[in-house]
Amino acid sequence: MNIHEYQAKEILSQYGLPIPRGEVASDPESAHRIATRIGGPVVVKAQVLVGGRGKAGGVKLARDPDEAAARAGDILGLVIRGITVRKVLVAPAVDIAREIYLGLVLDRANKNVTLMASAEGGVEIEEVARVAPEKVYRYALDPFLGLLDYQSTELAFRLGLPAERVRDFGKILRGLYQAFVAVDASLAEINPLVVAKDGTLQCLDAKINLDDNALYRHPELETLRDADEEDPAEVAARVDGLSYVKLDGNIGCVVNGAGLAMATMDVVKLYGGEPANFLDIGGGARAERVATALRILLSDGNVRAVLINIFGGITRCDEVARGLATALEAARAQGEPVGVPIVVRLVGTNEAEGRQILAEAGLVAVTGMDEAARAAVAALGSRPEVRA
Ligand code: GDP
Ligand code: MN
Repeated sequence: MNIHEYQAKEILSQYGLPIPRGEVASDPESAHRIATRIGGPVVVKAQVLVGGRGKAGGVKLARDPDEAAARAGDILGLVIRGITVRKVLVAPAVDIAREIYLGLVLDRANKNVTLMASAEGGVEIEEVARVAPEKVYRYALDPFLGLLDYQSTELAFRLGLPAERVRDFGKILRGLYQAFVAVDASLAEINPLVVAKDGTLQCLDAKINLDDNALYRHPELETLRDADEEDPAEVAARVDGLSYVKLDGNIGCVVNGAGLAMATMDVVKLYGGEPANFLDIGGGARAERVATALRILLSDGNVRAVLINIFGGITRCDEVARGLATALEAARAQGEPVGVPIVVRLVGTNEAEGRQILAEAGLVAVTGMDEAARAAVAALGSRPEVRA
């Protein structure tokens, strides 16, 4: 789960990071009020869950409250990478001498948290990482030892910080690491961490990604979710307890079990298809959940064929079949019969009952996964509700 800059800053402030104290506004009048309270130059920043706001015109300086209101007016309503800005953060502006990049990221391949930093932070960091990767310093942090003092001291010098700021830098790094671990983040980034003209260090931007699989341990963080900015299908899936991730292909997949879902996507690709999603209906899914899954897939305009791959264990084939039949029936009743071919592979617990229910709904199930994937690829663009 991705959270907004202002939310990430609230978390990091609790860990002692130096962050200019701003407030969020949804209209120019509130931006005016906040700038008046701050009483000096401010920065007005779009709060959207995408990066590159600065380059897209979503970060503007303002000298006084009138200008702050005007800039808020410019930024609110702006569409940045497909997302409409509904909130801006108004914060004291800082006179910048240098911009540093600082990030902690969960490195799954190396099974550790990796600390990354560059003296060339700011809006061009991706470019720096691409053309001059040696300018990004990396430290693999030992999961048992965490961040070590020598690492932050060494990094401070490599970043060219003056000796009198090394302690402050160490405090920032420690706070960032503590926050990262405490909230179960998969990414925590400060870009830029600036050396201000007065010599102090300040965190001007913050980004935190939370690990969805650990969210159950942080009910208080769940409230930070901004459903406005999430894919509506992903929201619907979460509400019904489905694991759904939208992808770019055109074969919608409904599968029970994460491993089988991965394997199904692989087999689809093997036969030249592209999965439209990852979708795990979970073990023991009831009919309603299956119906929701199918509804979600069919609401994706890219889907040209649906592949349902069920290996019934705890999940009962008859329940799955009932869910499919219900969804198809509901669609037909609304006068909008399913517009794409559906291929079903159904084996395992209560298979015979399941096939019977499918047959009554006008679907025939195959038994082989290979066969099913091939049929789904072949069915792309063919007439609706063709069965394998
Ligand atoms: P991003 O483009 O989405 O990463 O947004 P940032 O919050 O990182 O802002 C982009 C750039 O705007 C920063 O790299 C800074 O150069 C500039 N910026 C942000 N806040 C301030 C500020 O308080 N003062 C000044 N002078 N520049 C700022
Ligand atoms: Mn930034």
